[in-house]
Amino acid sequence: MTAPPARPRNAPHVIVLGGGACGMSAAMELLRLGLRATVIEREPRVGGLCGTHERDGWRFDLGGHRFITQSRDIDALVRGLLEGDLLERRRSSVILNGGRRFKYPLELDDVVRNFGLVRGARALASYGVERLRSRLAPLRDRSFRDWVTHRFGGELYGAFFGPYTGKLWGLAPEDISADWAAERISLPSLADVALRLLHVPRPGVRTYARRYLYPRLGIGQIFERSAQVIAARGGSVRTGDEVIGLCASAGQVRSVRVRGARGEEELACDAVISTISLPVLARMTGPLPASVERSARRLRFRAIRLLNLQLDGPPVSPHTWMYVSEPGYVMSRIQEPLHRSPHMAPAGTTSLMLEIPCDAGDALWSCSDGELYERCLRDLERLGIHGLRTRTRGFFSTFVREGYPIYHLDYVADRDAVLAHVARTQGLVSCGRQGAFRYMFMDSAMQMGLDAARSLAAGRQLAPLPAHATRALYEGTVLTA
Ligand SMILES: Cc1cc2nc3c(=O)[nH]c(=O)nc-3n(C[C@H](O)[C@H](O)[C@H](O)COP(=O)(O)OP(=O)(O)OC[C@H]3O[C@@H](n4cnc5c(N)ncnc54)[C@H](O)[C@@H]3O)c2cc1C
Repeated sequence: MTAPPARPRNAPHVIVLGGGACGMSAAMELLRLGLRATVIEREPRVGGLCGTHERDGWRFDLGGHRFITQSRDIDALVRGLLEGDLLERRRSSVILNGGRRFKYPLELDDVVRNFGLVRGARALASYGVERLRSRLAPLRDRSFRDWVTHRFGGELYGAFFGPYTGKLWGLAPEDISADWAAERISLPSLADVALRLLHVPRPGVRTYARRYLYPRLGIGQIFERSAQVIAARGGSVRTGDEVIGLCASAGQVRSVRVRGARGEEELACDAVISTISLPVLARMTGPLPASVERSARRLRFRAIRLLNLQLDGPPVSPHTWMYVSEPGYVMSRIQEPLHRSPHMAPAGTTSLMLEIPCDAGDALWSCSDGELYERCLRDLERLGIHGLRTRTRGFFSTFVREGYPIYHLDYVADRDAVLAHVARTQGLVSCGRQGAFRYMFMDSAMQMGLDAARSLAAGRQLAPLPAHATRALYEGTVLTA
């Protein structure tokens, strides 16, 4: 890490709301560019969605993360932060479906072998029908269902993509924007799956990436190191402090109101980079015009509850990820952290992390750990994963209230209306996964933080970003789609 320039005491002070991937990267960059920076994070630890929880020697991410990027800058940043603590791992994931294990990413010969000849032929035929239809007239992708069916055919949509997506979002795939498929799946089409069978390389396609980087002590280690860099550069990170309001005068943000162990405080600033939920931030700027309030209400997030099992004995399976696509099971993914780093569980033990999509406050979110454990154990038995009760040393839940921004069919109009309202306050930038209301991976969130810091540092009076810069910030930084 290069030393930051000497910082005058009256250098502009930027408060960063949220200590996740985006906020921590923004703060490091602000300090490197000679500004002052303070990060406010409501949780007791940094990392946000990329945080790692430790309990009795077991470590659990909030949903297993892998670090992949096509950006040299972000790659160099993470390698510089982690030095000798970065492991290179190989991906191993399967879909559990109908009592069978399908390789994921899909492989054509594996699909046909698992489906059997008749259903395999049906899958190919339904793909052929879509190809033919696209020759006759261009197919329009409005919903998730359109996007997948046009690229994979109805049979594979019905077997995997449709049910998995419905469970993940709690919405019919017809009501989810095609943008989500484009950003999430990054598996171009069944034709590409076939090319893979012939070992034709597909560089840059994220879903196909076999190798990824992972910190020795969990994904959160990247941001624990970022906190050390921020402190070394003269900035501060205040964990356990919740942002409860903003104060502006003459259209310019002046201070941030914070509630924490020290009670309520008002912290003066010259600018704010916010990575907290966009609708929450918008309401902090004052009462919203009725149409903006309507849009803000429609920007919702899907929550995730993670049931973390601490287990005696050897690994449960050879796979890091097992997708559970069928709706009759409560979990959408089963992950075994040991496969990402051997330091995720004490010697002679392992763990499972079960990802359970839900809505904050619903029955799955609110039931006791004991009830959820019993339900999950029944589901795991039905999936063919036996004998975990006697191996269980402990279990606990972790909760993510803002897991996935819900891309309803008209979300772009709602997001743009709220972003435009926020941009009216000078010196206030909303970015990151929650702040841009954009489904993105951690490298894009980090890049967005760096870009926001650079834009603010370049603006002489920390004025609102010009339209082209705003567009670049919100549209230009998704590196991995
Ligand atoms: C289950 C799951 C798996 C994923 N897997 C991968 C993966 O394998 N690879 C990958 O690259 N990406 C993955 N991602 C995406 C990645 O986690 C995000 O892109 C990234 O963490 C977003 O960072 P962020 O800083 O924008 O947002 P966040 O991490 O959400 O940070 C926002 C921060 O703001 C804080 N905050 C909110 N409100 C307040 C308030 N009022 N006051 C103070 N603080 C507040 C929050 O506590 C949080 O720390 C995954 C995401 C999920 C949900």
